[in-house]
Amino acid sequence: MSDARRALPSVNALLESEALRPVLERAPRGVVVDAVRRTIDAARTAPASVPRDDTAWAAAVAEAVDASTRPSLRPVINATGVVLHTNLGRAPLAHAAIEAIARVASGFSNLEYDIAHGARGSRYTHCAALLRELTGAEDALVVNNGAAALVLVLNTLAARREAVVSRGELIEIGGSFRIPDIMEKSGARLVEIGTTNRTHVDDYRRALTSETGVLLKVHRSNFAVEGFVAEATAAELASVARDRELPLLHDLGSGLLLSLADYGLSGEPTARDALRAGASVVTMSGDKLLGGPQAGIVLGTHDIIDRVRKNPLTRSYRVDKLTLAALEATLALCREPERAMREIPVLAQLTTDRDALRVRAERIARQLAGAPVRVDESDASVGGGAFPTARIASIALSIGGDATTIERRLREGDPTVVARVRDGRVLLDLRTIFPAEDERVVTAIRAALA
Ligand SMILES: *Cc1c(COP(=O)(O)O)cnc(C)c1O
Repeated sequence: MSDARRALPSVNALLESEALRPVLERAPRGVVVDAVRRTIDAARTAPASVPRDDTAWAAAVAEAVDASTRPSLRPVINATGVVLHTNLGRAPLAHAAIEAIARVASGFSNLEYDIAHGARGSRYTHCAALLRELTGAEDALVVNNGAAALVLVLNTLAARREAVVSRGELIEIGGSFRIPDIMEKSGARLVEIGTTNRTHVDDYRRALTSETGVLLKVHRSNFAVEGFVAEATAAELASVARDRELPLLHDLGSGLLLSLADYGLSGEPTARDALRAGASVVTMSGDKLLGGPQAGIVLGTHDIIDRVRKNPLTRSYRVDKLTLAALEATLALCREPERAMREIPVLAQLTTDRDALRVRAERIARQLAGAPVRVDESDASVGGGAFPTARIASIALSIGGDATTIERRLREGDPTVVARVRDGRVLLDLRTIFPAEDERVVTAIRAALA
């Protein structure tokens, strides 16, 4: 047995040492005891790194305590250049939305209370008026997420009946969420028409029977098809649906409320466009291009929204008050598009001028003078199932050296910085880094290169 191992302290001796007192003052005793045990065990298996004295032992225990008391869910810096990153929590919220959450979270609210009548109200009224105003829909309903919205509408309109959809739109969104699986769970019988690359309006017409409950159009949100392709437009489908007195459901996915065409992002319909084209009901997410909290939004005719609201399944997907608070505040910002582009983080990141990013990148690079860091042009992207082929001109800090190690150190540091590796260099895209995070990025890069 080596000297170091023989010198391992007992759990009790460590707990009673003066050096450990501050740790016991800031963490629950049980947590510290566990950390002491783990630290001693670690020293037993790695004799080379046995702490030298009480102070060093206390520091090792403090580190173990920190690791076990750190929240599991914590902020990270998104340096990937992918604005809507589902793994990184999708849309960061606008200040107005965060304030709205804080206001409602800290006390009671009129979530289901009608103040004017002093009687029971409905949580589903809260964002409805704003959604009507912003999209032109007759009525609106908010549930937990986009997938829930789709299941609910399909279940309401087509349970034990047929839902007609193009083979070109039977897509997988990610996280094994596949449109055909969702449709099956909703109780609707899937009727696939057309081919992967081409589906014509006549294909829909021929598929309609007395069993048809709904025509479904799904937005191809995360891929594009090119070449010999054809699809029926929403307007053509609406006309078929009208002739047969059937509803047309358009799953928009991303949920664009304000057009981004002025910023070079065109080709995706806004919710208003989709309704104007004749969809009877539209479903979309709250935390994609809308830039709000996770939510599923259903827009449509009075009749359909009323039926969805009364569907018992809706209770299982009901939306939380914090979500409604954040969504209402985000929607309110959309009343003033210019303000929305500044204050809704997703929209701000998508529309920021590249020169502004370059100025920040150069400032950071100057602070890191002497380090192998340069400023490069890069391509950012929208992510989150929207504008799948759009490359947004961007600026990145490009770090030379051992890319694998640097990427890992950035990721494992505090805060976590998620970067990407390209051509053997680590790239930190400025488009998805908030200006307020620049200082921490400097510190993180220094630490990763140390
Ligand atoms: C993202 C997406 C969904 C699912 O929405 P969530 O809010 O992630 O549940 C459904 N359909 C399409 C087309 C999408 O892009």
